[in-house]
Amino acid sequence: MTALDRIREAAQTYVERGWKVFALSTKKSPLANCDPCRAEHRTPVQMEACECLTCHGFYAATDDVDRVEAMFSGHPGRLLAIRTGAASGLAVVDVDPPEGLGTMRQLMAEGLLPETCAQRTGSGGWHLLYRHPGGYLMSGAGKIGPKVDSKADGGYIVAAPSTHPRTGEPYTWRWDWPTAPIDDLHPTLAARLRPPAPRPRLDTGGRFTEVSSARLRGLAAAVLNAEEGNGNNTLYWASCKAGEMVRAGEISEAVAYDVLFTAAAQLGIPERDAGRDPRHGTIGSGLRRGQR
Ligand SMILES: [Zn+2]
Ligand SMILES: [Zn+2]
Repeated sequence: MTALDRIREAAQTYVERGWKVFALSTKKSPLANCDPCRAEHRTPVQMEACECLTCHGFYAATDDVDRVEAMFSGHPGRLLAIRTGAASGLAVVDVDPPEGLGTMRQLMAEGLLPETCAQRTGSGGWHLLYRHPGGYLMSGAGKIGPKVDSKADGGYIVAAPSTHPRTGEPYTWRWDWPTAPIDDLHPTLAARLRPPAPRPRLDTGGRFTEVSSARLRGLAAAVLNAEEGNGNNTLYWASCKAGEMVRAGEISEAVAYDVLFTAAAQLGIPERDAGRDPRHGTIGSGLRRGQR
């Protein structure tokens, strides 16, 4: 069997599992883009739609085995790689030896790494393959634990029959490949890989085009980002601070009230609590206290 035959055979089994595959350089890095691609294809949408065989790294991954064979034709030393993330339905726990092995044992003891389809890497680590739960899961070094990386959306793994360029050791599947079942990614790990929620920003609804005081904007942001159940307390604190600014002549009471009332409404604090006008409710009492 030639090297190309072995790559084609492996690619076939991967594609049958719903995984998309592509070629990396002999050094395990993405192949260079052609000149037009370098100049014109910059966004994920453009790279995903690109017809080139090997441009744009994992965006070139495909489930067309003939296309995969063409990527390796004349370059049998290239490494076969699997795109991870929702595109292949995979979230991979990537264990880097030697430190990562300790982290892996720890995670196993915590019940976070159920037995699943696994690959021994050419550097002596592990790729544990789990089912992608949907949505977006971040990839990155140390995202799961010390020396345990995430290979999920925007990521890829090298796969058998590749050999590691530094060690010369092969990547090999464990257990009853190619039918080894894939377990679900543990929800605790999935939660670790969700992107942080964007901090909400004050939506003024066009009533005032901008809040000129950075400090007042900061107070509004504090209200918007109040912990659940702590909204009214935070609103009172912010109103006191704004009251001090009014007393110092930095802002007018009307603007302070307007900004804080808008932030409170956006957070979902009921109008009757925030106060419909500056004479009543949380904002009014905070503003008055701050001005004393
Ligand atoms: Zn190209
Ligand atoms: Zn392109």
